[in-house]
Amino acid sequence: MIGVRAEGAATIAIVRVLSEGRCAVFREPSGPSGVKLEERPLTEPAEGMVAVDIRAAGLNHLDLWMVSGAQRIEPPRVLCADGAGVVAASAAEGWQAGDEVVFYPVACDWECEHCRAGEQVLCPHFGIFGEHTDGTACQRFHVPAQNLRRKPAGLSWEEAAAFPLTFLTAWRMLTTRAGLRPGETLLVVGAGAGVAAAAIAIGKHLGARVLATSRSEAKRERAQALGAEQTFDSSGFAKPVKEASDGGVDVVFEHVGPATLTDSLRSIRKGGRVVFCGSTSGTKAEVFMPGMFFGQASLLGSTMGTAPEFDAMLAAIEAGMRPVVDSVFPLDRVQDALEHLDRAEQFGKVVLQVSG
Ligand SMILES: [Zn+2]
Repeated sequence: MIGVRAEGAATIAIVRVLSEGRCAVFREPSGPSGVKLEERPLTEPAEGMVAVDIRAAGLNHLDLWMVSGAQRIEPPRVLCADGAGVVAASAAEGWQAGDEVVFYPVACDWECEHCRAGEQVLCPHFGIFGEHTDGTACQRFHVPAQNLRRKPAGLSWEEAAAFPLTFLTAWRMLTTRAGLRPGETLLVVGAGAGVAAAAIAIGKHLGARVLATSRSEAKRERAQALGAEQTFDSSGFAKPVKEASDGGVDVVFEHVGPATLTDSLRSIRKGGRVVFCGSTSGTKAEVFMPGMFFGQASLLGSTMGTAPEFDAMLAAIEAGMRPVVDSVFPLDRVQDALEHLDRAEQFGKVVLQVSG
């Protein structure tokens, strides 16, 4: 079940999940045009694995970075970390044909001390479906049984394929990493991104007061409709945010990086936390260090989340938290879906409908 792949100087082992049937495959790093539809034969699941007929697969920015070459992933690779579907055949206990499922989108070995302790993000074989392994943009997807969860009741197939990666990422950032508490104030930067829309929903669910920024007035309006109390333009937001939050917010949710980090660090109160999962505006940022140590500030990095965090987040979904689906494209129009994501006009998730 473990394969090996060279990545730069390091060699990492990966769990060998399989994408079969009609697949959207990254073939060359030329942008959306480098993704082709291909047919692969259908097989029976290996021991411990479950084969799932995919109904819907969710695109993430990761897919766009991969097809543009920014992620330095060697093609071919089937796209998408997120998916939802119906079990077609099971070679693992506890699952049978007809079960409706979603996936914990992390590839790991499930055997090391970190995995056994429920800290899959620390696994030496950690990876993400659709990046380090084949992904869910396919007709049939074979995964280890440990990655399967029941599809939350009440979600459409598109919604079920829209939440796992972004909600898991935002859940770990706001709970485990930043320790957001009820009654605290949360600022979500760059509210249009899927992970930011998830952060607004989770912030509300956890009982925080939520503020948000976006460059786009339309996205600021959408953020308010989702539950953000007040919204701000993305340029120079620190001063108005401090005025709106009695001297500073408790937590800033960051994924933009250099373009907004100075304002994010200026927006927190003494003892505040800035938690980040990405840096879409560049990879290096300058930090005004006296502001950080005099301010008792925490700058916290985070990526993805553990299986126990995924289960806690699923319980919040069952309790009524919902993802936002921006648009749905049939699998055959995967290039159009990626171009739509590339234009950055979306609010929430872009989903591929695979069957059903
Ligand atoms: Zn492990």
